[in-house]
Amino acid sequence: MPSPLTHIETSASLPDAADAVIIGGGIIGVFTAYYLAKRGMKVAVVEKGRVGAEQSSRNWGWCRQQNRDARELPMATKSLDLWERFAAETGENTGFRRCGLLYLSDSEEELAGWARWRDFARTVGVTTHMLNADEASERGRVTRRRWRGGVFSPSDGIADPANAAPAVARALLKLGGTVHQGCAARGLEIAGGEIAGVVTEKGTIRTRVAIMAGGAWASSFCRQVAVRFPQASVRQSILSVATNGKALPEFRFNPGMVASVENNWYLEEHRWAAIARMTIRGNRVARLEILPVTMDVQRDGFPALPSESDAATINAAMTTLSKPFGTTLRTNGWYTEATLVT
Ligand SMILES: Cc1cc2nc3c(=O)[nH]c(=O)nc-3n(C[C@H](O)[C@H](O)[C@H](O)COP(=O)(O)OP(=O)(O)OC[C@H]3O[C@@H](n4cnc5c(N)ncnc54)[C@H](O)[C@@H]3O)c2cc1C
Repeated sequence: MPSPLTHIETSASLPDAADAVIIGGGIIGVFTAYYLAKRGMKVAVVEKGRVGAEQSSRNWGWCRQQNRDARELPMATKSLDLWERFAAETGENTGFRRCGLLYLSDSEEELAGWARWRDFARTVGVTTHMLNADEASERGRVTRRRWRGGVFSPSDGIADPANAAPAVARALLKLGGTVHQGCAARGLEIAGGEIAGVVTEKGTIRTRVAIMAGGAWASSFCRQVAVRFPQASVRQSILSVATNGKALPEFRFNPGMVASVENNWYLEEHRWAAIARMTIRGNRVARLEILPVTMDVQRDGFPALPSESDAATINAAMTTLSKPFGTTLRTNGWYTEATLVT
């Protein structure tokens, strides 16, 4: 299933020169280009496929401070401010909203860890609330079960992966930047030891500044210019299915699963009902999970999950996907993790 992604037009022609060329039109590339263009730079984004078509449209969309490492928390807090400001300053809609994120758990150990994080976060101005069993069960009422506790961070939020990168690219175009899709960067021109241009499949753009924002492809591009960029490759596939209004069975939350009670965006916007997640490490399927990540709390009062035939479709698709990796999958049931049988 292709990821649902807003399409944006490619700029008419490749510029001869730019102040900066951004390689990669994911969320990192387009935001980098946008902020440089805001400072008055002439910016071109080259994207080998479509803007936002890789990781940036296939994620969960969570904009999260909750449980971040101390080293990345200041950046996460700053980025939430920028997400909020972006819509106001451009009129473009990334789908960002501060709906808060909720974690639920039955593990005392996990709850204690979250409480320690809450104490630390308070020292850097981030508020998060520990929930007792009554509060957690109430906030997580869509799960229709009782929880030992939870944690809720009201200033966290979500953005819409299908719209976010395209919306930022549109804002860039309004500032005079250019976006070139179907235009892979092949290499760099170097003169006198410095960058002189970015060579693309549609021609060369003269520039002194090339910014690599190629996501999973970054290290292989960098290698050809003798720059070592350590990167671990983890392939994760997401499959979404629609319930088409079929009756939905009871579901189980994975312990510690992150959920936002108000995160019903997937279902409302795309009628997505469940997501199966497969992690492939080193050419080997490591994990398959079928996660009930969408909830239509307000409309129906219960979580939306796949019908039996949808689950069978997920399993069949995942089995097909995993075949090239020489694995067999054995599912343990609907929402439990599938066991890898090598
Ligand atoms: C399943 C999943 C769930 C996730 N959930 C979340 C979440 O809830 N919250 C969160 O914050 N993060 C989440 N992430 C992480 C997040 O999606 C990524 O960190 C983010 O999208 C990375 O953006 P990027 O621009 O670096 O990469 P990408 O979106 O992958 O963009 C890189 C782009 O560069 C292009 N490119 C590469 N090489 C070249 C070249 N030579 N020439 C031209 N173009 C090139 C590619 O085509 C691609 O479009 C999740 C990721 C996954 C996989």
